[in-house]
Amino acid sequence: MEKRDYYHILGVSRQAGEEEIKKSYRQLALKYHPDRNPGDKQAEEMFKEAAEAYEVLHDAQKRRLYDQYGHEGLKGNGFNGFGGFEDIFSAFGDIFQFSFNQGRRQTTSARPGNDLLVSITLSFEEAFFGAQKEVEIETNCACTHCGGSGAEPGSRETTCPACRGTGQIVQSRGFFQISTGCARCQGAGKVLETPCQECRGQGRTKQKKSVQVKVPAGVDSDTQLRIRGQGESGYRGGGTGDLYVRFAVTPHEQIQRAGDNLHCKISLSLVQAICGDTVEIPSLNGPKSVEIPPGTQHGTLMRLEGEGVPKLRGRGRGDYLIEVGVEIPKDISPRQKELLQEFHRLEEEGNRLRGKKWPWNRHKDSREKKAPAG
Ligand SMILES: [Zn+2]
Ligand SMILES: [Zn+2]
Repeated sequence: MEKRDYYHILGVSRQAGEEEIKKSYRQLALKYHPDRNPGDKQAEEMFKEAAEAYEVLHDAQKRRLYDQYGHEGLKGNGFNGFGGFEDIFSAFGDIFQFSFNQGRRQTTSARPGNDLLVSITLSFEEAFFGAQKEVEIETNCACTHCGGSGAEPGSRETTCPACRGTGQIVQSRGFFQISTGCARCQGAGKVLETPCQECRGQGRTKQKKSVQVKVPAGVDSDTQLRIRGQGESGYRGGGTGDLYVRFAVTPHEQIQRAGDNLHCKISLSLVQAICGDTVEIPSLNGPKSVEIPPGTQHGTLMRLEGEGVPKLRGRGRGDYLIEVGVEIPKDISPRQKELLQEFHRLEEEGNRLRGKKWPWNRHKDSREKKAPAG
């Protein structure tokens, strides 16, 4: 890859003084710092490029060589360009420290609480219609004695004597200042005069709390709901985590669910299938009447559009699919057999008159003749 001009990289003129170069580099280093751009390859490249440019331009001898001969001038003069990330860490350690601490500078030692996860068991109907549920969880909740601050009521927070309230212990090195978090106050800048007796200064205690969960219609076993601010309370008044709710939906005896669709199986007698009928099927709103048209075949899938589960994301509902089975009677009386044989005779006669073949013959023929049309 063609190397870019070092002055260009730092955005300074060829006449730029040392201060200007430092300032520009510092800005770029902070902007493209890997800690601020995790996983961003382009930022990483920019960061390396700026580091390399700075290393040359802030060194009077290297800069002169570069000005005179360009990138060629630096080869074989103890400079081989950017040598890897480890190099930056050692050569520019100050800047890393600087940006590292700047990003994390705290004014309080408060820390947010954790997110929590609970599971709620729902009936099939509750998942379908939605429900209002209550869960009880035991977790760190804001201390009632100190209101979550961690300080004994009436006592004050005093400025940390070690860092004089800055939360940082600062040392100067070169043109950067290295600051590390104050150990005494853990970076808070303040220390408690008297920690709360109830929570020993934590601002939270283990408590049981019940949380109301509004279950939307259409949830399923893999649905996860987030309830903001109902997780664990933070340390010394830091933000409260979130509560995640997962559902375990109890199966229905007659109705199955696949996504937004409902599914059930019904069986018809031979005569119902041949002659048609009105039958009752199970539904979540109680039994429902469905018309079975005459001549319904075994394995027919009837679809009741929009009678499935309410869609959790988006409008409308899925479908209700009814799979029809036809039962062949196993045990029939002599009279029934007689009537069926009569039925068979009439059917055969009618077919012969219409020049039709038997269904089973047709099936056999079609296999032999490689399925003729019709
Ligand atoms: Zn307390
Ligand atoms: Zn301190």
